[in-house]
Amino acid sequence: MISFVGAGPGDVDLITVKGRKLLEEADLVIYAGSLVSKEHLKCCKEDCKIYNSAYMTLEEVIEKMEIAVSKGLKVVRLHTGDPTLYGAIREQMDLLDEKDIDYEVVPGVSSFTAACCSIKKEFTLPKVSQTVILTRIEGRTKVPAEEDLESLAAHKASMALFLSIKEIDRVVEKLKKGYGRENVPVAVVYKSTWDDERIILGTLKDIKEKIQEAGITKTAQILVGDFIEGEYERSKLYDPEYTHEYRSASK
Ligand code: SAH
Repeated sequence: MISFVGAGPGDVDLITVKGRKLLEEADLVIYAGSLVSKEHLKCCKEDCKIYNSAYMTLEEVIEKMEIAVSKGLKVVRLHTGDPTLYGAIREQMDLLDEKDIDYEVVPGVSSFTAACCSIKKEFTLPKVSQTVILTRIEGRTKVPAEEDLESLAAHKASMALFLSIKEIDRVVEKLKKGYGRENVPVAVVYKSTWDDERIILGTLKDIKEKIQEAGITKTAQILVGDFIEGEYERSKLYDPEYTHEYRSASK
């Protein structure tokens, strides 16, 4: 059996119980070495074979999986955060489908939720935003024109930007145009939940300088929106005046 597993954002205790169990039982682990903490591998069996996919091509990964499965071995493909976001798992699953090899996908804690927890905020606030946009600025991987940061920012939804910190200049320019103002709160969370986590708070006006000063060029979430700072309305769910299925009006 092959299990694609989300390792979580960094802290090894943030993998799911299911994911940890699969790691403990695995005969072969292929992990995304650039971002997955090596500490996860400490729970593997002594004779577990471990490969770092950073040094492998897609075909090499699939070949290792195929051989292991033909021997009846248990395989874990360990991805950072949640495997369904920027993990390049679809191309692996499609090749496995072609070969009629079965697999499962186990979710993980994504770095975008981890980062929001690090700054102790909530993406979805009444009267502020009820939508979260997960996106990135284009790099080597293109982003469809309709999803350009400027036009997404015009929605004024809460945003989490992956894979974009190196391009903070362009990110800020586009967001400023989209939002039409500079005082939009921004939080950059570097290595959320790792021991060396860092949080830089600012606005579209000053975040670029702050990031350059801090020297952060990778492994960061850029969170943007008025959910970070400012007014909001209390939720209806816990409003004493409001009744629902589980609670009648107080008094
Ligand atoms: N599947 C992963 C994302 C992989 S893409 C997830 O769900 O989190 C890699 C990008 O994710 C990085 O460039 C960075 O933007 C973000 N990232 C991954 N781990 C992070 C962490 N611990 N803290 C902040 N950002 C992180």
